[in-house]
Amino acid sequence: MKILVINCGSSSLKFQLIDSETEAVAAKGLCERIGMEGSKLIYTPAGGEKQETEAPMEDHKKAVSLVIDALTDKETGVLSSLSEIDAVGHRLVHGGEKFASSTLINEEVITAITECNDLAPLHNPANLIGINACQELMPGVPQAGVFDTAFHQTMPEKAYLYGIPYEYYEKYRIRRYGFHGTSHSYVSKRAAEMLGKDYGDAKIIVCHLGNGASVSAIKNGKCVDTSMGLTPLEGLMMGTRSGDIDPAIVEFLAHKEDLSIDEIMSILNKKSGMYGLSGYLSSDSRDLHAASDEGKPEGIRTIKTYCYRVAKYIGAYTAAMNGVDAICFTAGIGENSPETREEVCEYLGYLGIAIDAEQNKKRGEDVVISTADSRVKVMVIPTNEELAIARETAALVRG
Ligand code: AMP
Repeated sequence: MKILVINCGSSSLKFQLIDSETEAVAAKGLCERIGMEGSKLIYTPAGGEKQETEAPMEDHKKAVSLVIDALTDKETGVLSSLSEIDAVGHRLVHGGEKFASSTLINEEVITAITECNDLAPLHNPANLIGINACQELMPGVPQAGVFDTAFHQTMPEKAYLYGIPYEYYEKYRIRRYGFHGTSHSYVSKRAAEMLGKDYGDAKIIVCHLGNGASVSAIKNGKCVDTSMGLTPLEGLMMGTRSGDIDPAIVEFLAHKEDLSIDEIMSILNKKSGMYGLSGYLSSDSRDLHAASDEGKPEGIRTIKTYCYRVAKYIGAYTAAMNGVDAICFTAGIGENSPETREEVCEYLGYLGIAIDAEQNKKRGEDVVISTADSRVKVMVIPTNEELAIARETAALVRG
């Protein structure tokens, strides 16, 4: 089955065409600056050259139609006609409490996703625009929605409730939802395989450390806790997001700096995390490690705080599961920064964890980086959300 995987942001659209039998990527790319000046399509067919084409894209429908043109282009396309696409899989951000698994999209599902817009006002409307565009341009082709939140719906009440008046949960469904679910699911399943254990009988912690970052605890095949909350702002310190803070800081800052709630939320989302703590040096952990290596205090404090917080979540989730079999690192930082993995694991000696320095240098493959006698296995597993979406979509279409 040929599955077109679509990830629609408010001004961008990422895509991959995946053969669900061989799991090979036939082509992939990105539409940038949709609805703005200077929009462009970046397209790479498997084994071919990356092409960048400036093209006006007034909306997402135009972007999808340019993607289809690229995929069916006589010279550099990988499809002879649009009819070869068997299904479309959409990455959807927020399914609220309505979606505990992926689903085929129909009118009822679209209404339910729209009802979750309040919970993800930036992401869900963009996701819906992508669905609409594909429905118009590929009528009759089955479409599936794979939610970032769905995997975490197995969390028990004690993990998802906040200590605020219960009426707010009842009225507005304010609770922990968690994100990056497709990645946590993919990586934890792979970890169980690498452990040689049944997924339903393993305790796994996944550290998804990218520009956005979250940790989750997966016990016996079910997510039992995760660090992101109602929104992707909670939990770890991230590239530009603060993660956990004392909520009273919001009021304190509002008074001291004469800021509105919107302004403070923008600071917490866009000017905090590694970027803010480093004094706006960078949100990229490569720059901050380099600064730290040069002895610059802004780099040192940022890296130390970042790793300490990851280690604290690992400790908390080990307690939540009464043990852990494997700790996995994934996403941009998790996959590519041996220094981060090493520094986080230095806090984990009490778990009998020891890291093999040579294994820890490996990149781009699934690898165990702990020593043979380490009591808990530590792994690096490159995440592949697109493949996970293609698998889910193919399974739904097959029925
Ligand atoms: P993601 O959101 O998963 O694409 O991750 C992006 C982040 O990964 C970047 O902002 C960097 O901080 C980090 N990153 C990417 N490559 C490296 C690397 N070689 N070393 C350290 N961090 C990296």
